[in-house]
Amino acid sequence: MEQLLDETGYQSTDQPEEAQLLIVNTCGFIGPARAESIQALQQLAACKTSEQKLIAAGCLSQRYGNEIAKTIPGIDGILGTRRWMDIVDVVDKIQSRKSSQTLYHIPEVPNVGQDEKGVLRVAIEGNSAYLKIADGCRRPCAFCAIPLIKGAHISRQPEHIISEAKHLQSMGVQEVVLISQDTTDYGHDIGMKNGLAQLLKEMVASVPEIPWIRIMYAYPGYVTDELIETMASHSQIVPYLDMPLQHGHRNTLLRMKRPANLDWVHKTIHKMRIAIPELAIRTTFIVGYPGETDSEFGALLDFVEDLQFDRLGAFQFSFEHDTTSAPLGDPISQEIKENRFEKLMQLQQNISLQKNQHFLGKTLHVLIEGKEDGISVGRSYRDAPEIDGTVIVEGELPVGTISPVYITGAMTYDLTGVPAQ
Ligand code: SF4
Repeated sequence: MEQLLDETGYQSTDQPEEAQLLIVNTCGFIGPARAESIQALQQLAACKTSEQKLIAAGCLSQRYGNEIAKTIPGIDGILGTRRWMDIVDVVDKIQSRKSSQTLYHIPEVPNVGQDEKGVLRVAIEGNSAYLKIADGCRRPCAFCAIPLIKGAHISRQPEHIISEAKHLQSMGVQEVVLISQDTTDYGHDIGMKNGLAQLLKEMVASVPEIPWIRIMYAYPGYVTDELIETMASHSQIVPYLDMPLQHGHRNTLLRMKRPANLDWVHKTIHKMRIAIPELAIRTTFIVGYPGETDSEFGALLDFVEDLQFDRLGAFQFSFEHDTTSAPLGDPISQEIKENRFEKLMQLQQNISLQKNQHFLGKTLHVLIEGKEDGISVGRSYRDAPEIDGTVIVEGELPVGTISPVYITGAMTYDLTGVPAQ
């Protein structure tokens, strides 16, 4: 949206009081994200002047556009996430009309529009960039509102993705993080077989100067032998895989309508660790899903202990209207959810510390992201941006470089080190 507005002559500012247009790109997939979006809208609506226009765009607007316009007076426009590319038209309409009624633009379309109007689907943070390869999701996960918000999975054309990767390369980006709701589903809708592996092979050949390509959000059951082989045979693809598993008990997974073949998980992780010995695996779990018994939760702890994930994130179940699991309600108390969350994270803290200690006395390559007062901070291949740990290095190394660091200290999530000789 920013790129489209920029082409039309708008300039961005991060000072709300200077802005003619205030746009909140909302998130609406779980309760805490909704609360944050609503708070941002309320704050801007309360402070805006009569000349300023406020637009609520994004996922929350797609799902609850009518409700937010009713509960937050002062919103001038509601733009659903499936038609973000119509932002300029929406802005023009709002600017040119006399009415103060909220303008709604949430057309009934089945998925996120593919007419991207030449917008680069990238978000650049320092020397890393997220690159979107698909949008929407066709999986049936019972707890998840994302298919309701985004619609069915739509893969972007490989040539667009590669062209954007080349653009990132020309900008000196060191790390490209491939994202979509389910990266392992890439290409099925545009006739590709093993689409993610095909895309990765083409990308590796096309952007040889991007040293790190990282894959997020793999769906269990769809990490194929070809994908493993592709990761194992190309050093540009970092030995890191994010595969949200959501639970470790078959019955909970069946209620979640998630892949429940835990044998596949064990075998695939084993196979991957043999093919890619330095592999770091990240996963995510939900605690407090409706009907999760003490024994199911205990099985989740055993599963985590067995599989020794390098990185682990956890969410407390968030009830979402209109999802398949909505009829199950939200019967598990907040206290139990918090308790289980703490237990799971404590278990993982021990595992994470041991995993980190394994790197003591070794050298890791670290993408330096900042430096100050004689200290540099960066990430190794084991750390995805924003969600994993960091490596803290003595001395000021050039930001944006991938530097060898000799590891001298291990904490629960972070490592410390000195520049390697
Ligand atoms: S794969 Fe992810 S985005 Fe798709 S329905 Fe399941 S949890 Fe939601």
